[in-house]
Amino acid sequence: MAITPLIAGNWKMNGTEDEARALLADLLPRLKASGSGAEIALAPPFTALRSVGEAIRGTSIALAAQDLHPASHGAFTGAISAQMLVALGVRYAIVAHSERRRLFHETDADAAAKAAAAGAAGIVPILCVGEQESERMSGATIEVLERQVAIGISRILPLRPDSLVVAYEPVWAIGTGRTASPAQVGEAHAAIRATLARAAGEEAAGAVRILYGGSVTAGNAAALLRVAGVNGALVGGASLAAESFAAIVAASPSLA
Ligand code: PEP
Repeated sequence: MAITPLIAGNWKMNGTEDEARALLADLLPRLKASGSGAEIALAPPFTALRSVGEAIRGTSIALAAQDLHPASHGAFTGAISAQMLVALGVRYAIVAHSERRRLFHETDADAAAKAAAAGAAGIVPILCVGEQESERMSGATIEVLERQVAIGISRILPLRPDSLVVAYEPVWAIGTGRTASPAQVGEAHAAIRATLARAAGEEAAGAVRILYGGSVTAGNAAALLRVAGVNGALVGGASLAAESFAAIVAASPSLA
């Protein structure tokens, strides 16, 4: 089955609204010129969602959020619900990024609740999974991925078409300049796909886009995106510069 790759930029906690607008003014013409058939999603900070949404209106670029709260509303100071994101035109939400797991103590159960809330509101969760370096060293990588995926999707079963994206992000590769080798990426993606198939069936699992994330750059994107089972990339640092993000998009095969 042909899958349209997805290249998603996670800007993390970077950029004021004005800076987001300036980045887009540089980025949009470059993306147009890249002629890539990949789908593109941008995840700015919450405060820039409206500005970015306005700037990409009329293009095929999708708006993404970096997180959401599982409740629809209520006494959750500082939190943002899926309903609020939908009202801003958000199509994707990153769920359980390793920084959320590590710095904000989010669990697999939190990931499941957030994926469920996103799905119920019509937002596609980008469920992040990945092993710590110590887990890779002790041979626990596949077990960790299987657990994170199985619990993370447990509340969005059965999977509807186009209702889930998974991002394999080895924690030791995020923001470190180190990337997983093609063999490590291939093995992890195959394990994730097999876990999805056990929970949701082969057909539904085959349609889920599984992205690689972890120090993707303009220099290594082509090799990583060529690995069998990789359907795009979740890009952090390199998405903050128009030139490098556009080059990553251009390196993506049109149909995986
Ligand atoms: C990320 O934060 O999801 C990420 C992959 O970051 P970086 O590309 O900077 O490693």
